[in-house]
Amino acid sequence: MSVSSVVSAITRRLEGKVALITGGASGIGECTAKTFVNHGAKVVIADVQDELAHSVVESIGSENCTFVHCDVRDEDQIKNAVEKAVATYGKLDIMFNNAGIADENKARIIDNTKDDFERVLGINVTGVFLGIKHASQPMIRARTGSIISTASVSSYIGGAASHAYACSKHAVNGLTKNAAVELGQFGIRVNCLSPYALVTPLATKFVGLDDEGFENMMSSLANLKGVTLKAQDVANAALYLASDEARYISGHNLLIDGGFSIVNPSFSNMFQYPEE
Ligand code: NAD
Repeated sequence: MSVSSVVSAITRRLEGKVALITGGASGIGECTAKTFVNHGAKVVIADVQDELAHSVVESIGSENCTFVHCDVRDEDQIKNAVEKAVATYGKLDIMFNNAGIADENKARIIDNTKDDFERVLGINVTGVFLGIKHASQPMIRARTGSIISTASVSSYIGGAASHAYACSKHAVNGLTKNAAVELGQFGIRVNCLSPYALVTPLATKFVGLDDEGFENMMSSLANLKGVTLKAQDVANAALYLASDEARYISGHNLLIDGGFSIVNPSFSNMFQYPEE
């Protein structure tokens, strides 16, 4: 192996791979699309925000990135997005089921409507189910693939978001485990990511704070101090799970939360240091 190919393998961790990213027009998906292309992948962005998605493709460069309109609730549109990835770039190595919505965090279940509940589950759960179902087909034929879905700390703990959102993200973790069991026989890995709160349109929509105010509030509640979670941190975790470095990782829910979800507030003052 030449020095340049060794350097390329280290610096471009997805060389020659093809990825489909739902919700790739904004936030975590957009950042991940850029990161994957920087690491040598060809990326298809699937989203409902056409104008925004086109501007992301333009900023990345249309030789490595393309857009397909896709509402993840619609099975035909998901099927079409997978087929477009295969038709455009010849295969599908990575499926990132990242599209999602949040609803207003109404504390009381009696204030939640059935319509609100089903709207969140339709995108966050059915969308992920359809993504896994259709992406797995070319991957089964190829006997390899990496499927990643975006869950949340709300896949692990209660009380951080609405009932619908918590329920939907627990379901993503469950689907991840079940699909990993079924698809392991074909060499396909299935994992999910569970970030703590970070600034994106989804997160700030209902909070009534600007980006800095949102980050300050989330940092004050965080376990890990001195670092603020950014979309790039989530994209880096997706990059790891997509790459061959994670070739034996499957069925895993990777928490990107600085230890937030393992802290029981009853014990949070256990380790006291004197003020400096
Ligand atoms: P975002 O709003 O920036 O991005 C979400 C994207 O999903 C948007 O581009 C949107 O158009 C797309 N989308 C929404 N409904 C869709 C549909 N029906 N079909 C196709 N695309 C659709 O928000 P984000 O924070 O980047 O969200 C990405 C994922 O991260 C979501 O699954 C979210 O639940 C999860 N997440 C976010 C946070 C956070 O604090 N931002 C924390 C944990 C998990």
